[in-house]
Amino acid sequence: MTTAFDQLADRILSGGAATAEDAVAVLRAPDTELMSVVAAAGRLRREHFGNTVKVNYLVNLKSGLCPENCNYCSQALGSQAPVLKYSWLSKDETLEQAGAGLRGGATRVCMVSSGRGPSDRDIDKVVEMTSALKDAHEGVEVCACLGLLKGGQAERLKAAGVDAYNHNINTAESHHENIVQTHTYEDRVDTIGKAKDAGLSPCSGLIAGLGETDEQLVEALFALKALDADSIPVNFLMPFDGTPYENTWELSPTRCVKILAMARFVCPDKEIRIAGGREMHLRSLQATALQVANSIFLGDYLTSEGQDALADLEMLRDNGFVILGMDESGFAELIEEHRAKAAARATGGCGSSCGDGCGSACGGHDEQERPVIRRRGAGTDVAANA
Ligand code: SF4
Repeated sequence: MTTAFDQLADRILSGGAATAEDAVAVLRAPDTELMSVVAAAGRLRREHFGNTVKVNYLVNLKSGLCPENCNYCSQALGSQAPVLKYSWLSKDETLEQAGAGLRGGATRVCMVSSGRGPSDRDIDKVVEMTSALKDAHEGVEVCACLGLLKGGQAERLKAAGVDAYNHNINTAESHHENIVQTHTYEDRVDTIGKAKDAGLSPCSGLIAGLGETDEQLVEALFALKALDADSIPVNFLMPFDGTPYENTWELSPTRCVKILAMARFVCPDKEIRIAGGREMHLRSLQATALQVANSIFLGDYLTSEGQDALADLEMLRDNGFVILGMDESGFAELIEEHRAKAAARATGGCGSSCGDGCGSACGGHDEQERPVIRRRGAGTDVAANA
């Protein structure tokens, strides 16, 4: 039986485009039609990306201590979340952390710093880090995410070899002032424009679960389409204790899949990345979500811990995906290396600082209840989850 979602996919595959009404209908599809939504959006995913998954790795260059008040953010002014706080990683620390992610299977390194925006000296640091990374890892893609850009900074990043710049719009323009008051939606759009004008690939996405309506989620996706973002990270709110959004739980796994499918229908040929909150909100539907999305972060997030990197990779392989840029034998070897590392860790504790004293690979974090604050990787002496 051909469903309305199949007809929508047919229309898009024939050169048409989803309308705002189509997008709202996807968000409001009953859960009994979830697999029809996934099957139809999955046709668009396979048309443009086959069975590949792009694997990205976050390096938090500077954590916490931010003067901005983004209400959802554990690093924001006024946040009481007990996240790691540190100033800039050195070039060598950055290389070490990025190298762990690249050896772990990532092809893109996303270098992120908290703060309103970079100073010219901060840009100097990122320029130096980028050139060291590109020298050490042939073919690595570098994305910078440093906040609001001033004139000339994007050009300097581009000249240094940075490939992409991330700056999320986060939510609809009509909802933006409800989630942050220290900068405007226009400020964010301006920075995306500066990145594009300098020739950097624009990466911009959103956070779902911030009290927005269906129409506002659709508004945000159409804004990203208009901005022509190449990569669209879709975050699901992680309600950190100590932030204004603590105890805010608006999302279900099926809702999250529908949001990703809606993004695929609206922006069929763009990289749709499942970003923060993947494990907590999609839970057992993570692999289903990858039938419509085509990109993930490996391992940990900026201030919270993701699931074990081996679990990420096994999920991809178990579901018939391949890592973009890696052949199948390389992927098989990578999984074997991770299994060997996990076995070695199991003899001496899991290496995580979860404090549970578990003696084997973690699986017991209560991801459904609370974000697990990151205590490994960048800014610590504990091995990265990669
Ligand atoms: S999202 Fe960025 S700018 Fe906003 S509070 Fe967090 S680190 Fe600062």
